[in-house]
Amino acid sequence: MDFEVDKIREDFPLLSQKVHGQPIVYFDNGATTQKPRQVIETVRRYYEEENASIHRGVHFLSERSTETYEKAREKVRKYINAASTSEVIFTSGTTGSINALAFSFGEKYLAPGTEVIITEMEHHSNLVPWQMACERKGAKLKVVPFNEKGELVMAEFKKLLSDKTRIVAVSHISNSLGTINPIKEIIRLAHKHEVPVLVDGAQALPHESIDVRDLDADFYVFSGHKVYGPNGIGVLYGKEKWLYDLPPYQGGGDMVDCVTFEKTTYNQLPFKFEAGTMNYIGAAGLAAALDYISGIGLDRIREYEKYLLEYATMKLMTVPGLEIYGNAARKISIISFLLDGIHPYDAGMVLDKLGIAVRTGTHCTQPVMDHFKITGTLRASMAFYNTTGEIDRLYAGLHRVREMFG
Ligand code: PMP
Repeated sequence: MDFEVDKIREDFPLLSQKVHGQPIVYFDNGATTQKPRQVIETVRRYYEEENASIHRGVHFLSERSTETYEKAREKVRKYINAASTSEVIFTSGTTGSINALAFSFGEKYLAPGTEVIITEMEHHSNLVPWQMACERKGAKLKVVPFNEKGELVMAEFKKLLSDKTRIVAVSHISNSLGTINPIKEIIRLAHKHEVPVLVDGAQALPHESIDVRDLDADFYVFSGHKVYGPNGIGVLYGKEKWLYDLPPYQGGGDMVDCVTFEKTTYNQLPFKFEAGTMNYIGAAGLAAALDYISGIGLDRIREYEKYLLEYATMKLMTVPGLEIYGNAARKISIISFLLDGIHPYDAGMVLDKLGIAVRTGTHCTQPVMDHFKITGTLRASMAFYNTTGEIDRLYAGLHRVREMFG
């Protein structure tokens, strides 16, 4: 396979570490990704040379900082092909974006007799905020089920869509099953009912190229830290007509136009949704991460990760007693699995001693575990800096687990 993974790995300082005396195998990329030097350097340089609060200063550093922040916004706009920078709101991450939207949208559009549609495979981040909004406003939450392969049952979705539906909130890619959902089709069907769609892109940005206009998504959210950028920065994309229409989520500095005790008017977009001192250094780091990914090319990343997924699936399926949860026809390089009769935590701890980092538990998708009547899984989530050699080590590690507990 023509992919210079060894050279790419040199960009990621953490990957040369040893854990328990073994070179680390980092297979927890679904939870967070490691950072390339280019991102680390951007953040370091910002603190050393540029740091000043944005938007509220006339001094040199503040103006430069503001310029960097707005350039980062333009970079995100271009990366997801939004129509305007007014549609790109910086947030603390996917969770922050969804909570902002669920609150704001809920305040304006949810009421008794209305419904919100989510799916059975949502991360708790795209479930609980909607549940809270529904409880607050007396609306109902409706859930699209998935089948045994981990694919959404589209016939059920069609049945649930009605004139009571106010919004559909769905993940582009499931973090526990790896399923790539038919987002474009979901949006098309919802729009036939004039229902807007929020897409949780937390797992999609690192693996797929995203074009919000081609998808016709009304809202699209993601986190910087899952896409090789810093923690504490994320994006809420929204079509201008929606963001214009919705009330602000938080009040505070910068999101205002004129403040008196009698009345406050709000700032224009996107600032209306950016209260307080924003994570401008995180935004610059995110821009550096998007540049880094573009430099490699998402097509090449996708092809290599597909190769890793096929290699890992083939190998793991030969481990006796191993069952994979999530076998969708279209999935990313995430494998959730269990070893017959062995608790995932026990297996995870043995793998850790061998230097292999996998995630164990519900992966913040308890309803997915309930669906399969299990308490959790082991999850290996691979990125473009992983190698087939590392998959071989996981394979050997799972045999070791079986020797110890099987
Ligand atoms: N949605 C999905 C699909 C996720 O995978 C995650 C993170 N595991 C989140 C939402 C939440 O992201 P964050 O914790 O960065 O806000």
